[in-house]
Amino acid sequence: LRSRHVPYGDIPKTPDLKRAYDVVIIGGGGHGLAAAYYLSNVHGITNVAVLEKGYLAGGNTARNTTTIRSNYMTPESVAFYKEGVELYETMSQDLGFNIMFSQRGQLTLAHSEATLRSFHLRAEMGKYMGTKIEVVNVQTVRELCPDLNLDIGGQHEVLGGLWHADGATARHDAVAWGYAKHAAARGVEIHQRTEVLGFEKSGDRVTEIRTNRGTISAGQVLQAVGGLNGQVAEMAGIKLAIRCFPLQAMVTQPLKPFLNTLVSSANLHTYLVQSSRGEIVIGGGSDPYQLASTRSTLDQKEHLAEGALHLFPFLHKVKLLRQWAGITDMTPDYSPIMGASPLTNYWLDCGWGTWGFKATPVAGKRMAETIATGRVPDILKPFDMRRFDNFALLNEMGATAASH
Ligand code: FAD
Repeated sequence: LRSRHVPYGDIPKTPDLKRAYDVVIIGGGGHGLAAAYYLSNVHGITNVAVLEKGYLAGGNTARNTTTIRSNYMTPESVAFYKEGVELYETMSQDLGFNIMFSQRGQLTLAHSEATLRSFHLRAEMGKYMGTKIEVVNVQTVRELCPDLNLDIGGQHEVLGGLWHADGATARHDAVAWGYAKHAAARGVEIHQRTEVLGFEKSGDRVTEIRTNRGTISAGQVLQAVGGLNGQVAEMAGIKLAIRCFPLQAMVTQPLKPFLNTLVSSANLHTYLVQSSRGEIVIGGGSDPYQLASTRSTLDQKEHLAEGALHLFPFLHKVKLLRQWAGITDMTPDYSPIMGASPLTNYWLDCGWGTWGFKATPVAGKRMAETIATGRVPDILKPFDMRRFDNFALLNEMGATAASH
C-alpha cells in the first residue's frame, strides 16, 4: 500500500446511480470512506457506491475534536484502538496525503484518589497490551504541561495524571478526503446529496435500497451513518441499543503554541488541545438530554469555559471563534457496535458516539475485511450487537467520558 501516488484533484462529481452494486456503503463520513478505500484498494472490490445524504464527511467527521488514543480499560478495546493508532501513524505515507498527524501524547488529570486508582488499572492493562501508558506524579505533570495551573486546590487539586505517549491528533477532513481520493481512483462511486429513505427485504436479505435519487440493489450493504445509526437501522427493521445525544465543542482565536500535549480532566468534564493553527479546541461531555440536533448552547459554552479557565486561568481574555455540535449515537457501554446484523447481507459500523474518529482507519479496514470475506474477524467479535442480550458488555464509560 505504501507510497502509491494518486494525484491531487477533486473527488469526481456525483455520477448517475447505477441499478446495482456489489457493495453499497450508507454514509460518506470517515468510516464509510475508509471502508470504501480498503474494499477497493486492498480487496479489489470496486463496484462500490458510497451514499451520502449531505456533503462528503460533513457529519461527525467534520465536527470532532480529533483525539486519537488507545488508553481504554478492557483488553478488547485496547487491542482494537491500538490497531487504529498504528494505522494513523503511517496514514500520511500510505495515502500520500498529509493528514497532519501529531503524536504529542495525552495527559489525563486525576483530582481524586479514586481516579488515580482507576488510572493504575488502565495503565497496567495498557502496558500488558503493549501501548505507551503510565501513571505520573504531579512533578511529571508539571514537566509535561508547564502552563497548567497546579494551584487549583479544593476538589480540583491535581494529584497526578495518566500519561499516554501514543495519544495524537490529525486533521479530520484530510483523513476523509485521503480515503475518498484513493477509493475514487479505483472506481468507487461517491454519491453526495443521496439520502437512503428505506429498504425492501426478502427473507433475511436487503434486496433494494430506496434513495431520493432512485432505487438500487446491492449484494452487500454497510451502514455507517454516525448520529443517525439508530434511525437508519430501524428503517431496515433492526433495533439497536443506541440513543442520540448532542455533543458540543468550541475553539478560541489562534494563540502562540503553548500546549504540547492533549490535556483532559474527567472531573471538570473538559479537554483541550491546541490545533496546528494555534486555536485551542475545547470539548467536554455530551449534553444531558436526548436530542437529534446540531444547535450549540450558551450553557455548554459557559461550562467548557469554566473548565478551561480552572486549568489555564491566563486564557480568561481569549476570544471564542466558533462553537458547534454533532449528534452522537451513544451505546449503554460506551463501545461501538460492529459486525453482523440479523440480515445476512447488512453489516453494521455503528455506536461511535463521542469516540469514533480515532477508530476511522481500523473500523474501515476491519469492516471491509468482514464484507470481503463474509467472516467477522476476531478483533471485531466482542463488539457484536448481541452483547446487550448476552450481558457481555464492554464498559468503557470511565475511559471515554470527557476524554473522547
Ligand atoms: P459521520 O462522520 O457522522 O458520517 C456519517 C454520514 O452518514 C454523515 O455524513 C451523514 O450525513 C450520513 N447519513 C446519515 N443518514 C444518512 C442516510 N439516510 N443516507 C445517506 N447518508 C446518511 N471521536 C474521537 O475519536 N475523538 C474525538 O476527539 C472526538 N470528538 C468529538 C467531538 C464532537 C463535538 C463530536 C460531535 C464527535 C466527536 N467524536 C470524537 C466522535 C466522532 O466524530 C464520530 O464517532 C466519528 O466521526 C463517526 O464517523 P462516521 O463516519 O461513523 O460518522
